[in-house]
Amino acid sequence: MISVIEPATEAVLEEVPRAGVQETDAAVAAARAAYPAWSALAPGDRAERLRALADAMAAEHEQLALTEARNAGKPINSARGEIGMATGTIRYYSGAPERLLGDTIPVAGGQAFTFREPIGVVGLITPWNFPLAIACWKLGPALAAGNTVVLKPAELTPLTAIRFGELAAEVLGEGIANVVVGPGRTCGQRLVEHPDVAKIAFTGSTEVGRSIAAGAAATIKRVTLELGGKSPNIIFADADLERAAESVPGSVFDNAGQDCCARSRIFVQDTALERFMALLETAVTKLRVGDPLDEQSEMGPLISAGQRETVASFVPDDAPVAFAGGTPDGPGYWFPPTVLCPVSPDDRAVREEIFGPVACVIPFRDEADAVAMANDTIYGLSGSIWTRDGGRALRVARSVQAGVLSINSNSSVRITTPFGGFKQSGYGRELGPHALDAYTEVKSVFFSTT
Ligand code: NDP
Repeated sequence: MISVIEPATEAVLEEVPRAGVQETDAAVAAARAAYPAWSALAPGDRAERLRALADAMAAEHEQLALTEARNAGKPINSARGEIGMATGTIRYYSGAPERLLGDTIPVAGGQAFTFREPIGVVGLITPWNFPLAIACWKLGPALAAGNTVVLKPAELTPLTAIRFGELAAEVLGEGIANVVVGPGRTCGQRLVEHPDVAKIAFTGSTEVGRSIAAGAAATIKRVTLELGGKSPNIIFADADLERAAESVPGSVFDNAGQDCCARSRIFVQDTALERFMALLETAVTKLRVGDPLDEQSEMGPLISAGQRETVASFVPDDAPVAFAGGTPDGPGYWFPPTVLCPVSPDDRAVREEIFGPVACVIPFRDEADAVAMANDTIYGLSGSIWTRDGGRALRVARSVQAGVLSINSNSSVRITTPFGGFKQSGYGRELGPHALDAYTEVKSVFFSTT
């Protein structure tokens, strides 16, 4: 059995059976058996079933949010937003089956046209930071395109995925969306190796992403990877410094910093550094860290004791802590929101993904300096640019090597716009219309008219 822990109390929340290779194979077989009928379903009927699934999720919104808040240790209001996004993503892609358009291409001797075909059985391997939301980023387009799936959620946070699997079996039918709860190194790896799995969609660490890409090569599986990040938040002296500072906690301490988009490198133009740090201290120290089920909480604990240990390793006793927030006493994997400054660009805290509430502030001289420092990383997921100069905002947005940028804002993720990384943050795009490319094969057919 897996003991699912509540990170805010360190108590066991639920015991769930642990699957292994045999259960994974059974789930793949069920998905394979369900594939011919699901992929052949009339587009309008597939759309209708997905809408019904979104309705079933919406009917359980508050319970799913409560489960997510307790299991992942996230503030209840964040959990409500995420479950809303999960449901909204399934609803958004329920519009896709009837819009999987192809092309007609002029050729000699007949007509050529293209079809968007489903790929087959798709393995979805997801992390613990935004459990059901990230799963639905994959489930929505995969199912809409006519694939059947096996979802392997992270062992730390399987509860909302288990409930999703039950709802999907009731509403879509058996075998279409299967859920296997077990360790990545057995169940996840089996999906990667399984000859009947045609594609893997993965979100998680860059290290595991590398091993998945290598493992998938043996069967030439399609792979999409959404991996780590070390995103820049670039603040020019002419920006609305109050707004920029006020929005920092949401951009790097949201989900206790366990967010691949966390803007954990804050680059501030040197002439504005002193003023910005004063504003930032106010914003950080007033952040309400506490019980995820308290409506007022803005930040919860880390996911596990192990994660807290990892995060703490980036803040040794001699770390240049400029200021930090507070944490509750008692049990729970708490870590205070912490800002490091001054910190060398070579420091581990600047170079590695921390996945915790620790941000580094680094001054820069001018635009070229800011862009060079922002790009000095193996990652390229997201980032922000704060300035009142529109031309500069666009120049910098085009120069930063990252998949998802925002100007005078810290938001990265919308259901309707593409999301994904450059460089070692992965490949492929989720969400928006582009995600469907990752769950379909283009087929070209020539029809002779002679
Ligand atoms: P992992 O990459 O290990 O886990 C992500 C998912 O992959 C989980 O479902 C996990 O299963 C599964 N998995 C693990 N090993 C394998 C494998 N060999 N083959 C197939 N699937 C596998 O992330 P961690 O949970 O260990 O987090 C470590 C770090 O990764 C974090 O500190 C953070 O830096 C980064 N990370 C980034 C995320 C992002 O959003 N981009 C999300 C999560 C983590 P299980 O855990 O059940 O064993």
